[in-house]
Amino acid sequence: MGIKIDALKCTGCMACEMACGYHRDDGFALLASCIVAYRTREKKDYFGVIVKEEDELLIARPEGLEVKKLGASEEPSEPAQKADASAKPMLLREACDMCEDMEVGPMCVKFCPVNAISPA
Ligand code: SF4
Ligand code: SF4
Repeated sequence: MGIKIDALKCTGCMACEMACGYHRDDGFALLASCIVAYRTREKKDYFGVIVKEEDELLIARPEGLEVKKLGASEEPSEPAQKADASAKPMLLREACDMCEDMEVGPMCVKFCPVNAISPA
């Protein structure tokens, strides 16, 4: 079980990132979040979301989902390199645990205002 993201609905509001940071660190610690919203500087209204999972990165973009397997020498590439600075330490973050200790369930699902995130 995991989460799925419809990047076409995403507005880049970062509520998921703040909610996950709160789950991880009992505060709005964006660097503790395992989900990151990003936007490109080149394209207007282009939003995406990256989720750190145990063995892979889920990269949801308007044109589709990419699943990037993480290997020992793996480095984040597109679009993580183009993402804002908060995406750069993505590989160092905890993997998504589906908010298993939260009574309300996955925080990113609960707080996304446009229902772009749902349980898979
Ligand atoms: S399900 Fe929980 S741990 Fe996973 S990305 Fe969403 S808020 Fe973070
Ligand atoms: S909370 Fe929803 S709309 Fe906001 S950045 Fe996350 S996925 Fe996008």
